[in-house]
Amino acid sequence: MIFRQLFDQQSSTYTYLLADPASREALLVDPVFDQAQRDAALMEELGVKLVWTLDTHVHADHVTGAWLLKEKLGSRIAISRASGAEGADRYLGPDERIAFGKRHLAARATPGHTAGCMSYVLDDSSIAFSGDALLIRGCGRTDFQQGDARTLFRSVREQLFSLPERCLIYPGHDYRGLTSTSVAEERLYNPRLAESIGEQDFVGYMENLGLAHPGRMQQAVPANLLCGRPSEGSFDLRKEARWAPLTYTFAGIWEVQPGWLEEHLREVQVVDVREPGEFNGSLGHIEAALLLPLGSLNERYATLKRDRPIVTVCRSGARSAQASVLLAKAGFDKVANLAGGMLRWRAQRFPVEGGAE
Ligand code: FE
Repeated sequence: MIFRQLFDQQSSTYTYLLADPASREALLVDPVFDQAQRDAALMEELGVKLVWTLDTHVHADHVTGAWLLKEKLGSRIAISRASGAEGADRYLGPDERIAFGKRHLAARATPGHTAGCMSYVLDDSSIAFSGDALLIRGCGRTDFQQGDARTLFRSVREQLFSLPERCLIYPGHDYRGLTSTSVAEERLYNPRLAESIGEQDFVGYMENLGLAHPGRMQQAVPANLLCGRPSEGSFDLRKEARWAPLTYTFAGIWEVQPGWLEEHLREVQVVDVREPGEFNGSLGHIEAALLLPLGSLNERYATLKRDRPIVTVCRSGARSAQASVLLAKAGFDKVANLAGGMLRWRAQRFPVEGGAE
């Protein structure tokens, strides 16, 4: 099983990637709109194909990436029928299954945080994704979106605490940096829901949380009721089309391939960030490349044109990746790294100035 836990810092949301290594089919639980590019890059690098996105509920603190990933990658959208969301490909009821390759997740209705909350349990009951029904030593709030403390109490006790004690719980959020827990631990130590605590105690606790509403609630809930589809005209996928066929890596770097650069040398500024000895050394350098060693880039980038795309180059593509990040931070909006650096450029037999045969 391929399994990754991903984090969105702005909303403290966890997104989970699961993939079946044999078929390479993958699914994402609770993807975040602003992280769709990151998630797509990771799946590309892992060589898996996204077949489903599943949301645990209609979120109030971030917009789901379900619609955007469907547009980009052709995945299908699943959410509970009770969520009231429109635009999904499948509406789940209790005990229904979502398959990826030979594996599946089974849905368990765990309302209370919202009326439509679902938890998803892996086929062998080793892992459960509890959304906001059960958090690590906590639980989701119950004071809006048809939340109800009594309902949540029963959902956790009946649907989650009934799982095997060893079952690991992966929640929808954590605000302290904790990553996972287990059924056994939460039954013993959850300060709101442990088995020693009664329903009335829990209701009293939840009535007195006194939390402010999430900042993005006014935007997030309407968008999530459409599975993350932006309102008409507010988001244009074509804007993602870049000045070159760029690849975004999970490391956060935009890359361009040598073949494209060779054909478009006249349209870009090639910035070689190696040391002078390397620039004039055996690998040679690309025609018209500007030599700006990485160590002096901060003082010298002002000499670069703002209106012309920049491709950064070094020996292997590592230092120039750092340079591309530095230039992007300095406000250059069309910057990419030459994938594989001069080594790949030479291996693909593109022309150089200087250098040895
Ligand atoms: Fe929530």
